Amino acid sequence: MKEIMILFLSGGTGTPKLLQGVLTLISPEEFSVISNVGDDYEIYGLYVSPDLDVITYTIAGIVDEEKMWGIKGDTFNFIQCLERIGEDSWFKLGDKDLSFCFLRSYLLRKGLRLSEACKFICDILNVGVSVFPASDRSIQTRILTEKGWMHFQEWWVREKGSLKVLNIDFKGADIAKSAPGVLKEINCAEKIVIGPSNPVTSIGPILAVKEIREALEKTQTKVIAISPIIGDSPLSGPAGTLMEFLNLEVSPLGVAKVYESFLDCLIIDKRDKSIAKRIEKELGIEVVSVNTIMKTLNDKKELAEKVLRV
Ligand code: GDP
Repeated sequence: MKEIMILFLSGGTGTPKLLQGVLTLISPEEFSVISNVGDDYEIYGLYVSPDLDVITYTIAGIVDEEKMWGIKGDTFNFIQCLERIGEDSWFKLGDKDLSFCFLRSYLLRKGLRLSEACKFICDILNVGVSVFPASDRSIQTRILTEKGWMHFQEWWVREKGSLKVLNIDFKGADIAKSAPGVLKEINCAEKIVIGPSNPVTSIGPILAVKEIREALEKTQTKVIAISPIIGDSPLSGPAGTLMEFLNLEVSPLGVAKVYESFLDCLIIDKRDKSIAKRIEKELGIEVVSVNTIMKTLNDKKELAEKVLRV
């Protein structure tokens, strides 16, 4: 039987939850994932790629599902040690998690590209899904606050998102090329799915790579997105604050506007059914409303079924 190739664009929380559902329905060879790299951050001399890691750990079945980051059952000896000696310890990384960050950093120092290091780690963890970083080049999501420009991780994790956003950019995206294989995935996919991830800081840096946006705009393949906004807020994270800053309505309509130039269908939550007509009328995008809140594996599976069926 011919394999159906579905391509997912992903951040590090909402879409990986959906991928857990997808994995119950189709085999790893039938889909691939392009990950955000705008959250990537260098700390303790290590190259941390939070979204790539969550995606990899999720598919490998070792993610800490309660937090939706890190590895389940991990210990935190390294961080506790840093705390004891008075070093920065706000970026919480477990010991096993650190070992993969260490491995990635080691491979990068040996001259491998990020996409090659990613494949290496996927192979170790028996991840049969092809996972690609959007780009091998550094793209840094940065937030301007009254304290100056800072990396997204510093704004969101260290400062707990408390500083007013004065600007946002994706440093390096203007010269970034897509990682090897990414354009082929977009051009050969039978369906492209933008998972329920933050449209500004998770999907935004992927779309900021010109080649990727252009390929999505050109493709004849159906592009579907799932709204991470339910009602007038996200289920987690700073999507609402950042969409407001960008003068986007914090609603599924605002999400549709971000993807308007290539989106064919938006899946919104059934609680937002009333906004469907507005999206269809104002943007000409088909809307499907279902339960999109994924608490249990069954919720994830049901949403994945809908996504595969659209
Ligand atoms: P990040 O890298 O941790 O920011 O993760 P993502 O961008 O992938 O995910 C964060 C977004 O996922 C938030 O905007 C949430 O509203 C959304 N999200 C998380 N869980 C769910 C869910 O169960 N359903 C839907 N529809 N959205 C979700």
